[in-house]
Amino acid sequence: MRALLVEDDEDLGEIIRTALTREGDTVDWVKDGQSALSALAAESFDIAILDLGLPKVPGLEVLRTVRHQGNSIPILILTAHEAIEERVQGLDMGADDYMVKPFDLDELSARIRAMRRRDSGRATPIITYKGIQLDPAAHIVHFDNQSFNLPRREFALLQKLLENPGKALSREQLTQSIYSWDEDVDSNALEVHIHNLRKKFGNEVIRTIRGVGYMIEKDGA
Ligand code: CA
Repeated sequence: MRALLVEDDEDLGEIIRTALTREGDTVDWVKDGQSALSALAAESFDIAILDLGLPKVPGLEVLRTVRHQGNSIPILILTAHEAIEERVQGLDMGADDYMVKPFDLDELSARIRAMRRRDSGRATPIITYKGIQLDPAAHIVHFDNQSFNLPRREFALLQKLLENPGKALSREQLTQSIYSWDEDVDSNALEVHIHNLRKKFGNEVIRTIRGVGYMIEKDGA
């Protein structure tokens, strides 16, 4: 999963980035509201974590603008303990969830998983598809009586595909979902990950859509 972190507090930002990266997520971090708007306009993220007290453009303004543009990315806002009114405003403006500082990092991760689950229209925590069971919390994939501890990008890629059955995802979309913008990416990196996934879960799981990218068939298809 690729997350945009918007937080101007260096220490807190570093802690959150480290925690999410350890969870296997790809994180891009910006430190003001203007950069957040540019990033959201330019790239595709799976979720955004948005501090409300930000330089240049305040968090609530970022939220309002993003929703006004029709962007439905799941957004979790970070607010100060005493800022109840701000929290309420944020939720009413289209934030999906919030955390009050200081917060527990395990709870943050769990809330992010829950947001992502809702976003992909799923009620159950485990993603299942033709014998594959992907557990986002445990970072394990079960298939054919085996448990796979996949490298983090393979895991993220498989999750992205499984969350979008029946939808052709472009190479660019998929690459953006597993690499942050400051990483050098080999031109065939995505193909290598797809190849490795097919080797483990069978060739027929991921379809190549010529000239576009890849997709997983709708279950039962
Ligand atoms: Ca702040």
